[in-house]
Amino acid sequence: MDFSLSDEQKAWQRKAREFSENEIRPLSVARDQIEGPFDPWHWDLIEKGSKLGLRTMAVPKAYGGPETDFVTQSLVMMELAKGDSAMSKAFSQNWKWSHLIAHACTEDQKERFLKPFLADHRYLMGRGITEPNAGSDNRLPPKEDPKAGFKLRAERDGDDWILNGEKCFIANGSVGSLFFVDARTDPSVNISQGGTLFLVPKETPGFRVGKLFNKSGWRFYQNAELFFENARVPHANVVGEVAGGSTKTGDGDVTGGDLFGDLELASNAVGVCDDACGLAMSYACSQNKAGKPLIDHQIVQVRLGEMHMLTEALRSFTLRVAWEHDQGHRSASGVLMVNFSSDVILRVTKLNMEIHGAEGCFMNARVEKLVRDAEIWPHLAADTVLRMKAVSKLKRPDTSNA
Ligand SMILES: Cc1cc2nc3c(=O)[nH]c(=O)nc-3n(C[C@H](O)[C@H](O)[C@H](O)COP(=O)(O)OP(=O)(O)OC[C@H]3O[C@@H](n4cnc5c(N)ncnc54)[C@H](O)[C@@H]3O)c2cc1C
Repeated sequence: MDFSLSDEQKAWQRKAREFSENEIRPLSVARDQIEGPFDPWHWDLIEKGSKLGLRTMAVPKAYGGPETDFVTQSLVMMELAKGDSAMSKAFSQNWKWSHLIAHACTEDQKERFLKPFLADHRYLMGRGITEPNAGSDNRLPPKEDPKAGFKLRAERDGDDWILNGEKCFIANGSVGSLFFVDARTDPSVNISQGGTLFLVPKETPGFRVGKLFNKSGWRFYQNAELFFENARVPHANVVGEVAGGSTKTGDGDVTGGDLFGDLELASNAVGVCDDACGLAMSYACSQNKAGKPLIDHQIVQVRLGEMHMLTEALRSFTLRVAWEHDQGHRSASGVLMVNFSSDVILRVTKLNMEIHGAEGCFMNARVEKLVRDAEIWPHLAADTVLRMKAVSKLKRPDTSNA
């Protein structure tokens, strides 16, 4: 197997590393400690990164973007997340939706939405699926229950659709210019038959942003409620077919929806783990305990060894899946990888905290921040539902003659 990177991949990696070290990391802890849900946000950082192409790197060449491959996106994400996991997510959230626009939208929609996205350094995107009473149900809808899943209603009115309902926890909610919104056009059937995906620009009449969520981790990243009160959306903003099943823009199809989402989270976790390994190693080499350097104590060596071993295993797994995506291979690996990333980031950040002893819990703000950031993973990846999804994709042996 050839693990070498192309010159282009190395150039993106270098650019991301420099931006991460010089612009992201110096802001990371300071922004994390600012109170309130919105104030950690920093538009200057987004603009600087955008000018380097870090906001638009997934847009295809045909539409004026650099069309980086999945391996490049994974490498860039690892570098950015080493500086700050939440800041890097604010950039990569846009890669996910540029994949979706490029693969699932009409030429007219690409013209209307990709052009302003490319032109404006502050143009960010998001997707609203989750509602106060519909989270995991959207990702694994029980087939026999039409009521399960999102409730936001869309009804046809001439050339428009009228949307009523609410979404919650929506990323880039308070700073986004364009949202993909999952709505029910037929409430009598399951969301995979009666769900439709709409493009909703922020200036849409009847659309407004509600409260922002004040999270314990990923404090830079903005999550908000979105409200739709007779919001009028043109029929021309329907993505794909009406009742095409908005959730079909996920695993296994061409849109890069959940496929990219898995890769994005796993790559982000590698960056956080690299950071944790670096912090733990520096601390272990700089401290003396019981008459010798901390790193010479066997218990610390065991912990450092486990941290590095898990991080390297996750890096290899992630880059292999990225490479497979670039070759057009689709398998259960993506869901297994994202579940593994959740286990690894939780374990590695916790071991880093343990190596730092009391200082890790109370005094070293970065050590403690990494643990809070890692706690986000089980709510995005590797919850019970994603574990079920992973197992449902595994090949089962034929036991009919057993
Ligand atoms: C930082 C952050 C960013 C987010 N960004 C977005 C975004 O941009 N857009 C968006 O739409 N959403 C977003 N979300 C929401 C996220 O997708 C949901 O939190 C997730 O889908 C889980 O839904 P829930 O929180 O409602 O939990 P629930 O679905 O209510 O689950 C609660 C618990 O019940 C368990 N459970 C649920 N169903 C089953 C089942 N069938 N069998 C067994 N156990 C089950 C779950 O595993 C979990 O332990 C974000 C969340 C976070 C934390």
